Amino acid sequence: MKNISVIGSTGSIGRQALEVIGRYPDRFRAVALCANESAELLAAQAGAFRPELAVLRSADKNISLPGVRFACGEEGFEEACAYPAADIVLVAVSGFAGLKAALCALAAGKDVALANKESLVVGGGLVLSLAEKKGARILPVDSEHSAVWQCLHFDRKAPFSRILLTASGGALRDVPIEKLPCVTAKQALCHPNWKMGAKITIDCATMLNKGFEVMEAMHLYGAKLSQIEVLVHRESVVHSMVEFADGAVLAQMGVPSMELPIQLAFTWPERLSCDLPPVDFAKLGALHFEEVDKKRYPCFSLALSCAEKGGTYPCILNAAGEVAVQAFLRGQIKYTQIAEIIESTLSQPPEGSAESYAALAETDSLARARAQTILKGAIA
Ligand code: MG
Repeated sequence: MKNISVIGSTGSIGRQALEVIGRYPDRFRAVALCANESAELLAAQAGAFRPELAVLRSADKNISLPGVRFACGEEGFEEACAYPAADIVLVAVSGFAGLKAALCALAAGKDVALANKESLVVGGGLVLSLAEKKGARILPVDSEHSAVWQCLHFDRKAPFSRILLTASGGALRDVPIEKLPCVTAKQALCHPNWKMGAKITIDCATMLNKGFEVMEAMHLYGAKLSQIEVLVHRESVVHSMVEFADGAVLAQMGVPSMELPIQLAFTWPERLSCDLPPVDFAKLGALHFEEVDKKRYPCFSLALSCAEKGGTYPCILNAAGEVAVQAFLRGQIKYTQIAEIIESTLSQPPEGSAESYAALAETDSLARARAQTILKGAIA
């Protein structure tokens, strides 16, 4: 029996994780659930899964259920992240908040199933060195990184020559570039292949997400930037590939669903049935791979330059991205202004260091403030 603490249980990944846990009740138990503010859904989940602890991080509401202890706020969040009875902590919150969750869990020596890529983008050095120090594992949940992990036989330190990350190209891949300023949030949220939360779906459209995933792969697999190639692959059947010294390339394929990477982080090295339809290769026909069009995806280029610069640049990139995407989702800015706001913020970076969580939190809030000022100027 593996006990799992689910941080971000009401989000897209959290809900699918509970489906996996529910599918194998003799193997997995949700011992702690933590949501940000969705009190009703958390109460329903707690009723169905009967965890020992249920936490609402940002809302002050009480949930009363026999046998379930309920907590609110930052203290409850930290307790759920480092929950003593947990064998695995699934970090499935979105954005900068994931860094604190991952660090709390690792500091307690817990294995972390990591669905939050921002924690590695922003504080990869901290996360990796803490995991090493505590002898805790990081189990990749992002589908591309799970694919690489599978190709490396679940050994993050195995040698390879190149990592080939695939990208769908997002919801706007076929919109003529000159029409991109006019696309609505609704259009950008219509992902062709994957069902995910709003922030990451917009990040897929801009390919900021793929830039984050390049940094994530650099940290998880000790890859140099030059060892990672990104390919637009419209069919989303090849979830990523690894090339080895002899030129052999292994790919992990399957239907696009997050259930497999989530479940595998819990069951590895064992594989259990996942109730997913098989890939029908005969029906699929050809698979396509293309280079990334840098004109269409300026956020991707911005992310690569931050990956190269390192330090606090990835943190500033992430903060500016969160501010710009929220503004786009609220209808305050045009789609193409997302990249402009990120670029302006990066061109006047706040001072700071990436040496501790506190320093990164400070950089994050300064970068957000700067991005807000730039945003205000843009919509005035
Ligand atoms: Mg991904």
